[in-house]
Amino acid sequence: MRKIKKTICKECFGNNECEELSIGVLKGFCVLCGNDVSGNNAITLSSDTFDKLYEQGLLNNKLPTNLSQCFDELDRMLSDNEKEDIKNIPNICLLHHGFGTYLRNKWGLWTGSVLSKQFKDHGVTHPDSMSAIILRLYNKKLNNKPLNDEYISTYPNVAKLLKKE
Ligand SMILES: [Zn+2]
Repeated sequence: MRKIKKTICKECFGNNECEELSIGVLKGFCVLCGNDVSGNNAITLSSDTFDKLYEQGLLNNKLPTNLSQCFDELDRMLSDNEKEDIKNIPNICLLHHGFGTYLRNKWGLWTGSVLSKQFKDHGVTHPDSMSAIILRLYNKKLNNKPLNDEYISTYPNVAKLLKKE
């Protein structure tokens, strides 16, 4: 059994049962819906158990799980003004700390969400790189430009991740 743990909220865990779950953490985010979890609302599972339940479709998942869903979700969550700002930003790195941090937390990029697993499977191992790729590609998309640049081409498998959708 791997020691990696995943934290989800009670709502996403639903009516499942499993032997080795532990309830309650100090602080964190649900890797399935991005809500804050704390105290008795948090359920911590081993990665193996999480994967097993997830693959059987037994857990709710409200977070994007691939890049096109990320773009859809960004379209939904951002105002027109915010989209305009991202579209015209002189350097996408400027988003790394504020909005980038928000996305890394919200979308479980540090804590093993399904989306982060997709990235890892395609050679992108660090959450900072994941959020950078999402924001760069979203900026390109808003500008109707080809979804590529020097940074993204350092991750050759990201192209596969795009084609998958
Ligand atoms: Zn949840």
